[in-house]
Amino acid sequence: MIIVMKPGAPKSAVDKVEELIVTKGLEAHLSQGKEVTIIGVVGNKNKLLNENIELMPFVDKIVPVTESYKLTNKKFHPEPSRIKVGDVEIGPDTLTVMAGPCAVENEEQLMTIAREVKKAGAQFVRGGAYKPRTSPYSFQGLEEEGLKYMAKAGREFGLKTICEVISAEAIDAAVKYVDMIQIGARNMQNFQLLREAGQSGLPVLLKRGLAATIDEWLNAAEYIISAGNPNVVLCERGIRTFETSTRNTLDLSAVPVIKEKSHLPIIVDPSHATGVYSYVSPLAKAAVACGADGLMIEVHNDPAHALSDGPQSLTFENFDRLMADLQGYVKLAGRTL
Ligand code: PEP
Ligand code: MN
Repeated sequence: MIIVMKPGAPKSAVDKVEELIVTKGLEAHLSQGKEVTIIGVVGNKNKLLNENIELMPFVDKIVPVTESYKLTNKKFHPEPSRIKVGDVEIGPDTLTVMAGPCAVENEEQLMTIAREVKKAGAQFVRGGAYKPRTSPYSFQGLEEEGLKYMAKAGREFGLKTICEVISAEAIDAAVKYVDMIQIGARNMQNFQLLREAGQSGLPVLLKRGLAATIDEWLNAAEYIISAGNPNVVLCERGIRTFETSTRNTLDLSAVPVIKEKSHLPIIVDPSHATGVYSYVSPLAKAAVACGADGLMIEVHNDPAHALSDGPQSLTFENFDRLMADLQGYVKLAGRTL
C-alpha cells in the first residue's frame, strides 16, 4: 500500500509515519514529489491493521497496491526515474544510445567500432564478453579479456560501457571494468542472478524474457531493486510469436504500458527484436516516437564476418544515417540526443 501525505506536509509528520512503519517491521520507501510526499510500504500490511494511519497528522489517504511488484510500481514513485551512469542520464529528457558489436571479438575490432559509434553520437559502447549462445558450439565470448577491451574503449573514446553478465563470477569480473551490466533475455527469470545484480552496485539493464509478460518482467526488476539496487533500466527486445519473418516480434506497446505501470526508464533493442539489419532503423524511429528512453543497436565493422548476429548488425554507414535521421524524431519527442 501507499500512504499519500497532504500537500505541504512537514518533514516531522512524514518522519512519524515512517517511524511507525519501521517499528512494525515493515519497509518504508519515500517518494518526494514536487508537492506531495508518498510513502510506499513493503511487507505484511496486516501488522498495521490496528493503527489508524489515516488519522495521523497530514495523512491524506491510503491506497492499496494490488500488483505484486511494489518498488517498480509507478504508484510508489509517480515521477519517472532518472538513472545516472556517470555523467549520462537515462530518463525522460534524453535519448540514450548504446551501440556496438554483439560480441567483443578482439581488441582492434572493438576499438574501431567504439571510435565510430562515438563519432556518430552514441553515449555507450555495448559488447558481449560472455555470450549466452543457443548452441554450445558457437563463439562463447572472450570473458575477462573482453571486459578489459571494453574498459579500454570506454576510456579512450569517452563512452560508457555495458556488458551482459550470465553468472555471479561474470558480475564479479564486470564490476572491475564496466559502467553498467546487462541481464539478457534468457536470464530474465534467473532469480539468483537478479539478486546478485542487485548487490553489484552497478546500474542494471534488464532485458525482457523471450516469453515473459510485462508483469513478469516488472517482478524480475523488483528482485533487483529489492536487493538494494534502484538503478534499473528495462529493455524491450522482442518476444516469441508465431511470426517467422523476423527473429522475434518487437512489442512496441510495451513502451507505453511500462510508462503507465512503472517509473523505470525503458529502452528498445530493434536489433535482437528483428534479426534483420534493414528493419532496425524504421523500428528505432518508431521506438523514439512512442516514448522510449533509449536504443540498443548492434553495429559491426564487417557484419558479413561477425562472430555473432552479423545479419542484424548495422554497418558504420547505416548507423551514421540512423543517428542523423533520429535527430528529428528526438526533437519531436521533446528530448535531447
Ligand atoms: C545481447 O544483447 O547481446 C543479447 C544476447 O540480447 P538478448 O538477451 O536480448 O537476446
Ligand atoms: Mn547479439
